[in-house]
Amino acid sequence: MSRAQALDRLAGEQFDVLIVGGGITGAGVARDAALRGLSVALVEARDFASGTSSRSSKLIHGGLRYLEQGEIALVREAARERAVLRRMAPHLAMVAPMLVPVFGRTKAGIYKLKAGLALFDRLAGVPRSERHRILTSDEALVEEPRLARERLQGAALYPEYLADDARLVLDTIKSAGDAGATVANYVRVLAFGQAAPLRAVHLEDVEAGASLTTRARVVVNAAGPWVDELRTLDGSAAGSRLHLTKGIHLVFRAEDLPVRHCVVMRASDRRPVFAVPYERYVYVGTTDTSYEGPLDEPPVTPEDAEYLLDAVRRSFDGLTIGTADVIGAWAGLRPLVHEEGKRPSEISRKDEIIVSPSGMVTIAGGKLTTYRRMAERVMEKTEALLGRTLPPSKSATLPLAGGDLDGATNLVDYARSTTVRRRFDGVPDDTTTRLLGRYGSDALAVATAGGGVESLRPLGAGTLLSEAEVRYAVRGEMARTVTDVLERRSRVALFATGSARAVAPRVASILAEELGWSEARRAQELAAFERAATARLAWRASGG
Ligand code: FAD
Repeated sequence: MSRAQALDRLAGEQFDVLIVGGGITGAGVARDAALRGLSVALVEARDFASGTSSRSSKLIHGGLRYLEQGEIALVREAARERAVLRRMAPHLAMVAPMLVPVFGRTKAGIYKLKAGLALFDRLAGVPRSERHRILTSDEALVEEPRLARERLQGAALYPEYLADDARLVLDTIKSAGDAGATVANYVRVLAFGQAAPLRAVHLEDVEAGASLTTRARVVVNAAGPWVDELRTLDGSAAGSRLHLTKGIHLVFRAEDLPVRHCVVMRASDRRPVFAVPYERYVYVGTTDTSYEGPLDEPPVTPEDAEYLLDAVRRSFDGLTIGTADVIGAWAGLRPLVHEEGKRPSEISRKDEIIVSPSGMVTIAGGKLTTYRRMAERVMEKTEALLGRTLPPSKSATLPLAGGDLDGATNLVDYARSTTVRRRFDGVPDDTTTRLLGRYGSDALAVATAGGGVESLRPLGAGTLLSEAEVRYAVRGEMARTVTDVLERRSRVALFATGSARAVAPRVASILAEELGWSEARRAQELAAFERAATARLAWRASGG
C-alpha cells in the first residue's frame, strides 16, 4: 500500500485499533493486532523509527545486565525473545561475541562474574554451545591484543546478538502492512474527540499540511518519549510520568579502534559501556543522563563525548583516540517510567501499560529486545476494551518481512538456493551477501528495483549504498526524504556522516525521479539533509 492509499483509508475508514507512533513499540503492536485479524491503522508523525528506535545500542540483549539488578523475570523474557527474533528474522539477528575484561588486584572479580554468568546460563536456558567461557589474562590478550594489561585478571566471553534497530522497525511495519494494517509516516495526531464507542482522532498530513480525521475503537499510545504529550491531549496526564534519559554513541573507523569483539569497558563512574564492531566501523556507547530538552533531535555534547572517549582510553593500551577520529554519532532518549529517588541507570527498563479513563492504552518503558512480548501485553488490554475474544498471537511463529527464507534456516543456505542464484545472476557475490544480510528475502525485490546489475553498484566512495536500494526504499518502504534514506533505510548518515554527505546529491536526484519533485524541491530536501548532517557532528567544533 502506498502512502497516498494509506491516507485515503485513514480518512475513509474506521479501525478497531489506531496506533500512535511508528517506533519499534508501535510497529510491534500493529503487526500483532493485524495478525489477529483486527482492522489496524498506525500513524507516525515523522519517519518510521525516527525517534529512539533508530538510536539504540542495537543489542538484542540476553538479559545479563538485568540479573545484576535482580530482575529475574526480565532476564528470562529477554533470553526467550532473543531466540524468537533469531528464528523469525534470521537476516537481522547477528551474533556478536561479547568480551568482558576484569581488572583488579585479585581474582575476586573473575569469580563473581563466573558465578553470575553460570546463573544467567541456567535462568536464560542458554544452549550448551552458547555458554560463557572464562579466559585467563593471556587468553584475553590473544582475543583482544590492545586491552590494557595492567591489573588485567582475565575475561569472560559469551555470545550476544545485534540487530539494525531501524531495519527491525521497518521490517515489522512491512509485516503489519502485509497483514492488512494501514500505515503512514508523516501523519501526526493533533487532537482526540470524544471516546466511546468510536473515537475521532484528528490528524495532520505533515507533508501536505492538510488535516484529516480518522476513527477507531481503541487508541494505543506508543509515542515513546512523547507518550506524556499524547496523554495530555487525551486529558489523562496524571499518575505515572516519564523520566527521559539520554544516551549517545560515537562511531570510529575500525582501524582507529581495532577490537574484534563487543568489549565491555568501565567508564569513570564504573558504568559499563560497549565498543561494538559493526561492518567497517566500531561504535562506542552509551551514556545515561537525565534529559529535559527538546525531544526531536537530542544533542551530543562535548561532555557526553569525553565520557566515552575516556572509557576507551582507560580500557586499551596505546590508543590516542580523540574527537577528530569520530566519523559519526547519534543520541537517543529512553522513555523510562519515573521512579522516585533513582539515578538514570538504576531506573527499571520494564515496560508499563496504563489505560486512561477514555480507554487510551499507553505503553512506556521497555526494550527493543522485548518489543514483541510488549505488543502481546498491549493486546491483552485492547482485547478487554474491544469486549471480544481475539485469536492467540501469531507474532512469534510467523517470519518477519525478509525473514521467510524458503525453508532455509540461515542466509548461507538461502544464498545457495535456485531462486536467489537466478535473481542475482551476474551480481558479485559480496554484493549478494550484503543485500541478503540487510534485507533477507526482500533482497530479491531490491535487486529488481533499479533495473540491472549496474544499479547495485555503490553510489560513491565510502558507502556501499546503491541506486536500487534507494529506489526500493521509496517503493517498498515509504521513504520520503533524503534523511529517511541515509539515516534509516540505510545507516550511512549515522555511521559515516561525511560519506553520506558525498552521496546525498545523487540520492536526492533519484528521490526526485521517484517522487516527482521539482528542481526547487530537490534543492530544498538536499539542504534539509545538509543541515541535519552538520548538526550531527557540530559538538566536535565546540569540544576541541
Ligand atoms: P520511539 O522509537 O521513540 O517511537 C515513538 C514514535 O512516536 C516516534 O517515532 C515519534 O515520532 C512518534 N510520535 C510522537 N508523537 C506523535 C504524534 N503526535 N503522532 C504520531 N506519532 C507520534 N533496547 C534494546 O533492546 N537494546 C539496546 O541495545 C538498547 N540500547 C539503547 C540505547 C539508547 C541510547 C537508548 C535511548 C535506548 C536503548 N534501548 C535498547 C531501548 C530501545 O531503543 C527503546 O526502548 C525503544 O526504541 C523505544 O521505542 P518506542 O517505539 O517506544 O519509541
